[in-house]
Amino acid sequence: MQSNFSITNVETAAVVKGRLLEALESWNAIFPEKRAARILLKPNFNSNFNALTGNTTDLRLLAGVIEFLQAKGYSDITIGEGTNSGFVREGISVIHRLRADRLAAAYGVKIVDLNTWPETVKVALEGGAVVEVADLLVTSDFIINMPKLKTHYEVGMSVCMKNLMGTCRGRENKKKIHGNLGYNIVHLNQVIKPNLHIVDGLFAMEGNGPSRGTPVNFGKIIIGTNPYQVDYLCARLVGFPPGEVKPVAAAIKLGHITPEEARSWDAIPIAAYQCTFKKPKVSPLVAFVINPRFQKHLIKIRYAPVISQICSSDLVKSMFYKLGISQEWIQNDEASLSFRAKDVDCGTCAKCEEYCPLGIERAAILDGGGDRCIGSLYCCSVCPKDAFVLSGHSGFYSQQINLYGEIIRRIA
Ligand code: SF4
Repeated sequence: MQSNFSITNVETAAVVKGRLLEALESWNAIFPEKRAARILLKPNFNSNFNALTGNTTDLRLLAGVIEFLQAKGYSDITIGEGTNSGFVREGISVIHRLRADRLAAAYGVKIVDLNTWPETVKVALEGGAVVEVADLLVTSDFIINMPKLKTHYEVGMSVCMKNLMGTCRGRENKKKIHGNLGYNIVHLNQVIKPNLHIVDGLFAMEGNGPSRGTPVNFGKIIIGTNPYQVDYLCARLVGFPPGEVKPVAAAIKLGHITPEEARSWDAIPIAAYQCTFKKPKVSPLVAFVINPRFQKHLIKIRYAPVISQICSSDLVKSMFYKLGISQEWIQNDEASLSFRAKDVDCGTCAKCEEYCPLGIERAAILDGGGDRCIGSLYCCSVCPKDAFVLSGHSGFYSQQINLYGEIIRRIA
């Protein structure tokens, strides 16, 4: 494997952090010399579906990267993410719903919402548009992009390049990117240049991603320094022609991926890691709505004050969701849950402990998680004996249970 790209197989949940730490050791030379360097981690917290659905960055990877950095003596670590526009519009903190805020507190690192970050830098987009992105993405000393590997109904796949959309400040700016998604994502990547990309390919997503596809226990961590190369190779990894992934196609057209580079990336032997994912399939109506020729006009209409008000009614939201125009049916109801295991004979199983982002021991998990528990509920999702009883108010979380509960238990 070339030195600026690595793929790590993660055979079981028990070895996630160990494999990650081994992989990161081989990248040791690129981390900053100064232990006081300001390090920014940019995960993908696109929606409130947790990592096991294939939608968002796995908290086990985030915890593993923080543990690696802290063990090396780095003390100024920030997690920064700006979740998607629908949640912003509703005033919902996905960072909190995914319990990333509690993870940050458990490790004593900062966490910020890039949607409300006060200082920005401007990035020029197609057609003279200008977008504002959080300036942390250019002022931090070292940036680690931590995207999810997933399909995307608009652009084919979402990996390193697409993950930078979360750096755009608030709805107004995110909206501008949709004016010409593939090309504008490339423009973002020409200004924001993370030093390292760590792709969460543990529970990836196939089909109609990013939020309505199917999770796949892919068991891979992909690391690289060049987002174009990593995305190109991730497309090959899941059996997609790279040129069909819109940001990759745009990067080729704009000359950021040369024919020589593409040929050399085609020659990298990755057959041992490959798997064929189902591609997103969209209806003719959705294909029309996301067609770049019409999308910028449709967005203007969609966000006109009166139309916007009509579109925010539950009736219209549910209709858009059923027609596939909206990927999310956002639930405003917060969850407040605790858990405890019924009397269960676990035998040699320790899945709940292996999936716990903090590695809390099984005995404590069975008893409700204890003081260190951040409430990710990964443990309850993966138990093959369905031993956990949830109490309290399930709120938005019931949507994940209904859509993904059974499949997560089956593939974990
Ligand atoms: S996942 Fe379920 S069966 Fe396995 S150790 Fe935990 S409680 Fe026991």
